[in-house]
Amino acid sequence: MESDSIGSRKILQSVFGFHDFRSPQGEIIDTLVRGKDALVLMPTGGGKSLCYQIPSILREGCGIVISPLIALMQDQVSALRLLGVKAEFLNSTLDLASTLNIEKSLRENNLDLLYIAPERLNQTRTLKLISQSKIALFAIDEAHCVSQWGHDFRSDYLNLSLLPEMFPDTPRIALTATADERTKNEMLLRLQLQDAHKFISSFDRPNIRYRITLKQNVKTQLLSFLKKEHPKDAGIIYCLSRKKTEDIANWLQTKGFNALPYHAGLNNQARANHQARFLKEESVIIVATIAFGMGIDKPDVRFVAHLDLPKTIESYYQETGRAGRDGQPASAWMVYGLQDIIKLRQMMEGSEGSEEHKRAEHHRLNAMLGFCEITSCRRHALLAYFGEESQHSCANCDNCLEPMETWDGTEAARMALSVAYRTEQRFGVNHLIDVLRESTNDKIFQFGHQNLASYGIGKKIDNNQWRSVFRQLVARGYMSVNLERYGALALEEKCRPVLRGEETIQLRRDIKRKTIRQHTQTSLAADIDVALWEALRECRRLFAEELGVPPYVIFHDSSLQEMCSMLPQSMEEFHLINGVGERKMEKYGPAFMAVIIEHTAS
Ligand code: ADP
Ligand code: ZN
Repeated sequence: MESDSIGSRKILQSVFGFHDFRSPQGEIIDTLVRGKDALVLMPTGGGKSLCYQIPSILREGCGIVISPLIALMQDQVSALRLLGVKAEFLNSTLDLASTLNIEKSLRENNLDLLYIAPERLNQTRTLKLISQSKIALFAIDEAHCVSQWGHDFRSDYLNLSLLPEMFPDTPRIALTATADERTKNEMLLRLQLQDAHKFISSFDRPNIRYRITLKQNVKTQLLSFLKKEHPKDAGIIYCLSRKKTEDIANWLQTKGFNALPYHAGLNNQARANHQARFLKEESVIIVATIAFGMGIDKPDVRFVAHLDLPKTIESYYQETGRAGRDGQPASAWMVYGLQDIIKLRQMMEGSEGSEEHKRAEHHRLNAMLGFCEITSCRRHALLAYFGEESQHSCANCDNCLEPMETWDGTEAARMALSVAYRTEQRFGVNHLIDVLRESTNDKIFQFGHQNLASYGIGKKIDNNQWRSVFRQLVARGYMSVNLERYGALALEEKCRPVLRGEETIQLRRDIKRKTIRQHTQTSLAADIDVALWEALRECRRLFAEELGVPPYVIFHDSSLQEMCSMLPQSMEEFHLINGVGERKMEKYGPAFMAVIIEHTAS
C-alpha cells in the first residue's frame, strides 16, 4: 500500500506537475489502486479528474471513463496528451478509420485512458471490445445522471449496472458534484455501489467571494464592478431573458469588453461559435440565459454575475460554482431588487404544473429571497442549506467583509403595512410611497388618498429607503405581490403581530455598510509585473493557437503567476512551478524562459 502512495505521488509530480494532493484525492486513488470501488461527491473544481486519471496510469490496463459530455472529450483528451498520457475517446464524432485504430490500441493494451459516451458503451460491439481488453478501472463521471429525480437524467446511465455483473473484478469510481441525499442514495443503488468507499467532501468553495447588492442602475453597477475588479477577465453574466442577454452583450462591447450573447434562441452555429471563443480566447465574457454552463469546464472563469435573481439556491450555487474552478480568487456577484421578486412570482404563476409543484417552487424561491436578505455570513447560510455545518464567519462574503447595518424598522413596517391596508391592497409600491411621502400627484387626488391617516406620515424616510422597507417586507413574507393587480401589495397573515405591536422588525440598511477594510479583489497578485504577465500570456496564446486548444490547457493562470514571481532561469527551476510536469517542462520551458530572460534583461 505504501508503495502505491509513493507511485501515485510520483505521477502527480512528474506527469501533472502538482506538488501535493488535495484532500481526499490521495485516499481515493489508493482505494482504486487497491482494486476497491469508490463514490466521490466533490464540488466543481475540487479535482475529481485526477482521482481516476492517476489510478488508470498506475494500474495495469486502460481506464474507461464514461462521460455524457461529448463536446468536452476532445479537450480532455488533448490536455492529457500534452502531459504525455496515452488518452483517446470513442464517440459518434469519429470516423471509422480512427475508431478502428483506437479499438486496436485498446486491445493491444496501448492506452492509459479511454473516454466513452454512455450510449456507446452500451453497444454490444463496445462491450465485447472491453471484455477482450485489459481494463484498469471504470470511472462514471457525472454519476448523478443515473438519478431519475435530477434534471440531468440519462437513460443510458441505467445500463451501467451491468458493469459489475460483467466485470466483477474491475474497480469502479462514480463521481459527481451533486450533493443531495436522495440523488446519492439512488446512485449507490442503481450503480450497485453500496459497498463502495464513500468520499464526501465539503461543498464549500472558499475562493469564491459571494456578494449581493441592491439593484439600482444595473448597467452602471455592472460596469463599475467589471472595471474595478475584472477588467480583463473571463466571466459569465446571467440574465433572465434572451433579449436582455443581447442588449447587455452589445452594450458591453461598446464599452470595450469582449462580450458575447448565448441563449437557446441563437442558431446552433452561433452558439457553438460563442462557446468556442469563450473557451479558446482570453478575456471573453458570455452574457447568457441559464441555457449556458452545463459541462463548461473552463477553470479560469474569474466571475459569475447575476443581473436577475435565480429561482432557487440550488441554481445559484450551481451557476456561481462555474467561477474559480482553478482555486484562484473569483467573484460571485449579484444585483437584486423588488422587481426580481415580482417577475419571478409572475413566471411561476404563469407556469404549467400542479399546485403542489407550484407550492414547492414558491418555497424554494422564498429560501432564495431569505438568502438575499440575510445580514449574517452568506457562505454559512449556503452550506447550511445543503446540510453542512461551518464555522460562522467566512471572511470572504459581503456580510463578513462589510457587515450590514440594521435598524429598528418596526415603526416603518407598521406604516407600510397600514398604508397598503387603507388603500385596500390595490396599489403598487410607487403609489404607496407617494401616499406616505405626501406626494401631490394626480393619482393621489383621483383616489382621494390625501385624506387618509397615512398621508404624509412617512416623510422622514426617503424614497429609496421606503423601497427597501417594502422589498424586505415582501421578501420576508409579511406582504405579498398581487399579480392580477399589476403588482399591488397585499398583507399576509404573518403581519398581524407587527400591526398589533407584538413584534419588532430589524431591517437591513441596504445602502450603508460598515466598511471594515477596503478590499477590491483582483485576480492578479498586487506585486506582479504586469508587462511580464502579458508577455507570458502571449507566449501561451501562440502555443494554444498552434495546437488548437484553450490556453489553460497549456498552463493555468496560476502557473503563469508563479513564473512571474519565481522568474525561473533553468529547467530545474522551471519544473518547480506548480502545474509544470516533465513533458511540459521539455516542450514549453525554453520558450517561456526565453520570455522571462528577455524581460528581466531589459
Ligand atoms: P472537477 O472535475 O472536480 O470539477 P477538475 O478535475 O477539473 O475538477 O480540477 C479542477 C482544477 O484543479 C483543474 O484545473 C486541475 O488541474 C486542478 N487540480 C486538481 N488537483 C490538483 C492538485 N492536487 N494540485 C493542483 N491543482 C489541482
Ligand atoms: Zn461570510
